[in-house]
Amino acid sequence: MEKIKMTTPLVEMDGDEMTRILWKMIKDELILPFVDLKTEYYDLGLPYRDKTSDQVTIDSANATKRLGVAVKCATITPNVQRMSEYNLHQMWKSPNGTIRAMLDGTVFRTPITIPSIHPAVKFWKKPITIARHAYGDVYRDVEIQTTEPGVAKLVFEGASGERIEEVIHEFSGPGVIEGMHNTDASIRSFAHSCFKYALDVKQTLWFATKDTISKKYDGRFKAIFEEVFQEYKDAFEKAGIEYFYTLIDDAVARVMRSEGGFIWACKNYDGDVMSDMVSTAFGSLAMMTSVLVSPDGKYEYEAAHGTVTRHYYKYLKGEETSTNPMATIFAWSGAFRKRGELDNLPELVNYANQLEQACFDTLNEGLETKDLVNLSEGITPKGLTSLQFLQEIRKRLEVRLGA
Ligand code: NAP
Ligand code: MG
Repeated sequence: MEKIKMTTPLVEMDGDEMTRILWKMIKDELILPFVDLKTEYYDLGLPYRDKTSDQVTIDSANATKRLGVAVKCATITPNVQRMSEYNLHQMWKSPNGTIRAMLDGTVFRTPITIPSIHPAVKFWKKPITIARHAYGDVYRDVEIQTTEPGVAKLVFEGASGERIEEVIHEFSGPGVIEGMHNTDASIRSFAHSCFKYALDVKQTLWFATKDTISKKYDGRFKAIFEEVFQEYKDAFEKAGIEYFYTLIDDAVARVMRSEGGFIWACKNYDGDVMSDMVSTAFGSLAMMTSVLVSPDGKYEYEAAHGTVTRHYYKYLKGEETSTNPMATIFAWSGAFRKRGELDNLPELVNYANQLEQACFDTLNEGLETKDLVNLSEGITPKGLTSLQFLQEIRKRLEVRLGA
């Protein structure tokens, strides 16, 4: 078989620990034998981030802005323990946080579903994608705890000299006060990313807030979404999808009764909470994919899980691990598909689809990594090491591609 051609390189962001080991295995078994791979390589492994004073992370984000599509391996976010483990010069910030801020992007998380793993919610037949607004609200609040009676006010001093003042509460005893904010610009970026992604995957978009209670704050979210939607309305109609707004409590009830197969855009706190609920209900963190989408349509694909440290320490002792590579494979397939669509390379799109199907073939035959074995119903699964699992996928991919 002649290797599949690429024209524009992918931005390749390598990472840490067990996922770095999987990264190479995936390339060797499932990519390099089939694709004439073109990437711009950035090593976001912690040692090199430290060596470059994190400049490599910034360079990789800029490359994503330039080239449009990136694929990222999981990376360590340093804490005190990592400082000594890696002898770091500084406690570098989370690469995901840096990249997200530079791209002004929204993260979409989607579970990979298979027939033998049943979601905890019996109605769910298709994946539900959660999009979390990752700026402001409670996460950038200021809080006061008071110990005596008094008056709390909300004051805005405009650059023009305008002054707005509202009494929050007249306290007759101790209490708590919280001030939070968001910006039109951030909400608008969030809306653009959501509408773009919905069109991309051709799925209906839900958005929900509590605008009946929070008339100005949540009302602003609702209004901006409605306004931005006007730019996408025709395209949505053409794609046969909808934008659907409702109250958050109504959304929760409807989600539980739904079949899935849509995107649920959430405000920051709702997304924090609901993404944990939805991912747990779908089964496994190892089967959750993630893509960062910027408002101007740049994409960074990755797995939702971390670097699987416990498995890495076993690997270092020479043990073969059964770490699940699915989410990382799907990060690559997502990136190839997007690159193929942008560059008009149907063979690359086909490769991405066949790669995913080969993974499903393997899992549906009961060949799985150990994390999935206990979750599987209706089949007799066999637990494989990561390498064995990748080799089984490769066999099926070769057949599918006629290689
Ligand atoms: P984690 O790496 O996701 O692992 C948590 C546990 O979940 C693992 O110990 C493992 O359970 C299970 N697991 C996760 N992915 C799996 C897979 N692919 N196959 C099999 N089991 C899997 O989270 P963490 O331990 O909290 O974080 C480890 C490091 O990752 C930290 O340094 C953190 O900063 C980083 N992190 C990075 C990202 C990112 O780059 N996007 C995201 C989250 C965390 P068992 O051990 O029970 O088998
Ligand atoms: Mg959470």
